Amino acid sequence: MIIVKSPREIALMREAGHIVASVFEALRPMCVPGVTTKELDTKAEEVIRSMGATPSFKGYGGFPGSVCISVNDTLIHGIPGKYVLKSGDIVSLDVGANYKGYHGDACRTYPVGLISPQAEALVRVTEESFWEAMKIIRPGVNLSDIGHTIQSYCEAHGYSLPRDYTGHGVGAQLHEDPPIPNYGAPGHGPLLKAGMCLAIEPMVNQGRRDTRVLSDGWTVKTADGKLSAHYENTIVVTETGYEVLTQLKE
Ligand code: MG
Repeated sequence: MIIVKSPREIALMREAGHIVASVFEALRPMCVPGVTTKELDTKAEEVIRSMGATPSFKGYGGFPGSVCISVNDTLIHGIPGKYVLKSGDIVSLDVGANYKGYHGDACRTYPVGLISPQAEALVRVTEESFWEAMKIIRPGVNLSDIGHTIQSYCEAHGYSLPRDYTGHGVGAQLHEDPPIPNYGAPGHGPLLKAGMCLAIEPMVNQGRRDTRVLSDGWTVKTADGKLSAHYENTIVVTETGYEVLTQLKE
C-alpha cells in the first residue's frame, strides 16, 4: 500500500531531508585523496546526530556503517572501512537520516581528485537521468513512467541499468511501497498522487548490468568490474509537480 503523507508528516520529512543534504555539504569537501571511507562515515554520523536525528542505515538489517560508501565498481551498500580514497576514484555516499520518526534518503557520487572523462560522463548522466524523470512527476502519472524515463536516457548514452535494486517509497519506514525500478515499459503501475514520498535513485553501470554480492553479504559490485554511479533524492509529489526534500533550499 502506498502511503499518502499528511502535511505534518511532509514537514518532518522536509526536516529529515535537510539533515541529509547537510551531510553532503560536510562530506563533499572530504572526498579527496588520502581520506578513508571510515572517516567519511564518522563525519556523517556526527552531522546527523548533531542535528537531532539518527543514521537510518546504521543497524538496518545489521548494516555496520552509518552511511553506505561505494567506490568505483561498487554499485551500492559499500561498508565504510580502511579503504583510502585515491585520485581518479568515484565515491557514492548513500545517506539516510531519521528525524522524529521520518526518513530522508539520498545519494551523491563525487569525484576524487582528477577523474577520467569516462567516469565524469557516467556520473553526470546518472544525475541527469534523475532530473529527466523529475520532468514528468505530477499527480496522475503512471509510476512506471519514472523507470522508463531513466532507462531510456541512460541507455541512449550507452549505459546499463541493474535490475536487482530499485528506488522505493519512503516515510516512517526507510523502504515503503512502491518499489521504483530504474527500467521498464511506460504506462503501468499505480498513478502518482500528491503527498506520496518517493526515493528515486538511478544506479547506472558503465558496462553490463549484471551485479554480484561480496561474501560480506552487503557490498554489491558490477560483475564486469566496470564503474557504477548512483544519484538519489527523496521527493514529495505535490498538486502541481514535485518538491525535492533532500536538497538545501536556496
Ligand atoms: Mg534509497
